[in-house]
Amino acid sequence: MRQDTALPQAQQRHRTSAREALEAGPGPHSPGFPPVRSLYIHIPFCFHKCHYCDFYSLVDTRDRQEPFTDRLIRELTALSPWAGRAPLETIFVGGGTPSLLRAEHWARLLDALARLFDLSTIRAGRGEFTVECNPETVTPELMDLLRKGGVDRVSIGAQSFQPGHLKTLERWHDPANVARALDLARTAGIPRQSIDLIFAIPGQTPEDWRRDLSAALDLGTEHLSCYSLTYEPGTAMTARLRRGEFTPAEEETELQMHEVALNLLRSRGLDRYEVSNFARPGAECRHNLAYWRQRDWLAAGPSASAHVAGHRWKNFPRLDDYLSHSDDGFAPITDHELPDAVRAVSERMMTGLRLREGLSSPSLLRDAEAARAGSSARLQAAAMRLAGEGTLHIDGPVWSLTDRGILLADAITVDLMAALDGPGR
Ligand code: SF4
Repeated sequence: MRQDTALPQAQQRHRTSAREALEAGPGPHSPGFPPVRSLYIHIPFCFHKCHYCDFYSLVDTRDRQEPFTDRLIRELTALSPWAGRAPLETIFVGGGTPSLLRAEHWARLLDALARLFDLSTIRAGRGEFTVECNPETVTPELMDLLRKGGVDRVSIGAQSFQPGHLKTLERWHDPANVARALDLARTAGIPRQSIDLIFAIPGQTPEDWRRDLSAALDLGTEHLSCYSLTYEPGTAMTARLRRGEFTPAEEETELQMHEVALNLLRSRGLDRYEVSNFARPGAECRHNLAYWRQRDWLAAGPSASAHVAGHRWKNFPRLDDYLSHSDDGFAPITDHELPDAVRAVSERMMTGLRLREGLSSPSLLRDAEAARAGSSARLQAAAMRLAGEGTLHIDGPVWSLTDRGILLADAITVDLMAALDGPGR
């Protein structure tokens, strides 16, 4: 379960509190202050650590849920002026396993959100309020509570419907409970659902993957996130790989799985709107679109990443630090960055090209030229070359990756960044 905001490294600044980072941009009392319309909340508790996971999470001992919720509400109180009086458009609660938070704490958190923020756009069905759920923890009471609190979308971490592959990942849930969780959400009146799946699991065949995709589609989901298994440093999966306990999927097999997903999902009405995300028209994740379109968002909870007025940072990823630094409500942070003009253009290319809608080249080329003289012509030449190679689609002012280009997205972004940087750098 992830906050999907990966960006290249930029120069780091030395601010240690979210208050300092926020106050480095225009504050809520500045003229022309643009209210922040999105909020990410990180709930760090899980049953146990899945072997592939490098997200910040810790095994829930239940005794820390209450102080955590108290602390989270203090942080939300401190952050709320940055939303101004404008309605929030999207909230995403990820983790960790947010559905592991006990109902009494969810009730307090939802009350606080309603008190601190204007949720009228979300309640009118024009925004989005997503909560990530583990299939084992979904109950009628929790779904009812979430719905009444304004939640209109759940994202269910299925990962696979085949027990053998779940075992390889060290995921502990019964695949049958995915259907049950979706039913309970629908019965409670939560109208939108998404399922997360993982592919390129050791031992998984393209046919296994097709069966997982079909199982998810047969449950009526309108949105699927499909992530290929990655071996992150420090995870148990990577240690097992190094010990030779399994053979990772071949590149050729992974490519076949991409093809299987694209063909099957398109044939069932879900198109790829982002590198790893498929949806029926209108069912796209609005919160994640805000990330990829480089809008601003606030963030609460340990390890949550924020982006406000060009500044970005990450709450320090340790619950003990989060709980103990609470004087003014703001969280201790790390990795505070304010990208320079060249880096900002690079990031626009990186995030814009993840999306099927692509990016608008006139403003990109203008900003690139302002950031580095001569880069506009180099970028245009690189784009023409990529189009000739069949990886970039140029449709008037819009540049977007082709299906083949999506498989090479990282290399293409590096290519365009090199054109932006120019010779001798
Ligand atoms: S449930 Fe999600 S966040 Fe928790 S350990 Fe597993 S993958 Fe990581």
